[in-house]
Amino acid sequence: MTDQNPDVLIVGGGIGGLSAAVALSRKGIRVRLYERATEFGEVGAGLQIAPNCTRILADYGLLDEVKSLGVLPKAMVMKDAVDSAELTRLDLEDLERKYGFPYMVIHRSDLHGTFLRAAQRLGVDLRTGMTATGYDNVTLPSGLSGARVTFADGSTDQAETVIAADGLHSVARGLLVDDEPVNSAYVAYRGAVPIDKVRENDVSETDVVVYIGPRCHFVQYPLRGGEMFNQVAVFESPKALAGEEEWGTPDELDQAFDGTCTQIQQGLPLMWRDKWWRMFDRDPIMTWVTGRIALLGDAAHPPLQYMAQGAIMAIEDGWVLAEHVAAQSATRDESGSGVDWDAALAAYEAVRPEHCRRVLSTGRVWGELWHLEGLARLQRNKVLRDRDTYDYTYTEWIYGPTALTSEQEPPLYPTFPLSSVEVDEPAEV
Ligand SMILES: Cc1cc2nc3c(=O)[nH]c(=O)nc-3n(C[C@H](O)[C@H](O)[C@H](O)COP(=O)(O)OP(=O)(O)OC[C@H]3O[C@@H](n4cnc5c(N)ncnc54)[C@H](O)[C@@H]3O)c2cc1C
Repeated sequence: MTDQNPDVLIVGGGIGGLSAAVALSRKGIRVRLYERATEFGEVGAGLQIAPNCTRILADYGLLDEVKSLGVLPKAMVMKDAVDSAELTRLDLEDLERKYGFPYMVIHRSDLHGTFLRAAQRLGVDLRTGMTATGYDNVTLPSGLSGARVTFADGSTDQAETVIAADGLHSVARGLLVDDEPVNSAYVAYRGAVPIDKVRENDVSETDVVVYIGPRCHFVQYPLRGGEMFNQVAVFESPKALAGEEEWGTPDELDQAFDGTCTQIQQGLPLMWRDKWWRMFDRDPIMTWVTGRIALLGDAAHPPLQYMAQGAIMAIEDGWVLAEHVAAQSATRDESGSGVDWDAALAAYEAVRPEHCRRVLSTGRVWGELWHLEGLARLQRNKVLRDRDTYDYTYTEWIYGPTALTSEQEPPLYPTFPLSSVEVDEPAEV
């Protein structure tokens, strides 16, 4: 397929761009994908993937491969970071029965690699070392409408549609909105180590455990069939709040978790200290398409990661787009793909932005809830403790089937009227 003109150009070879390439290629669309880095890869450690993602992986025939690389945890347990008391849990085996697909954890590079291999098998034309610097809508030599990408080396390429999956700092996003990433003042440290390194610690090798605490949280779960153990430490940076340029630095890490439980103290020395991820999102936008240029993944909707849905939303975007492209396809001829791209992109834009807006907004609220201190922390703990483990009211809109139309039931937001919750304990922390 590499010697043929592509129907679609995708910019960005992260999980969003590669999964969209797979989704479109499966529908017979010729895809060329450009990545800025000289090699494909993912930096980071673990990723949680919920049933709304594993459902799509099953549709692509990739779920068995992903299962063989990841772990199917038994439960997601939320604990208080100060006293390690359990607050609430999701029974992930029951969740799988309910939604028909598993909740998994996987190394980022393993999920990325699965999409990369699938794209190669499907004949996606993969090009690395190419940085996109500009986008225009154009008329193609065939007379069809299309879009063009300009690269840092001065070269250009064009096709009937261009998908920009170029992440948080998307160049293409500037065509649609004049905005900047929003600094949360929180920073994430990661660390994935061989499981032997934590066997002496008080850890669960079967669960995802999230410790939530005052201005911080700490996540633990097994990876790679249980051979590795992943930890994420997230905290609010005093230096960021003070407006300092160098913030989220390792000296802040230990201070942020002062006064937290033994399990976290045992885990902190294992965090990588040479790299950290400052956490930015962007305000939601409802317009993702201009002419034949469309945003996808973090370029359209970079979230704070508290809902663990960022990569999943990117994967859903590609699946929804490909379904609409297939629905708008007629016979291919010499002039082009036969797809009514305007109709397909309009359908994509009619359904995805509202769902992603809700995830982004809920993610911000969720973060505030996790990081409460004082009386509000105790009130939150009571509300979480009172939740029935098998009450899926607040997960239905996320983990249920990915919508193809905008006529979906409005989701229920988690609402916690904390101020009226009565607690007996003293609010020391
Ligand atoms: C600490 C943390 C934990 C997270 N946990 C989860 C989780 O459990 N579950 C989940 O679903 N999500 C999670 N996320 C979110 C998830 O990582 C992102 O939402 C997801 O990786 C976005 O994928 P993407 O392909 O859209 O963007 P990116 O991964 O940013 O990929 C963009 C790609 O485009 C390339 N690129 C950029 N600019 C250009 C250019 N000009 N020209 C060419 N190429 C370019 C980049 O090199 C990159 O390869 C987490 C995020 C963080 C920070």
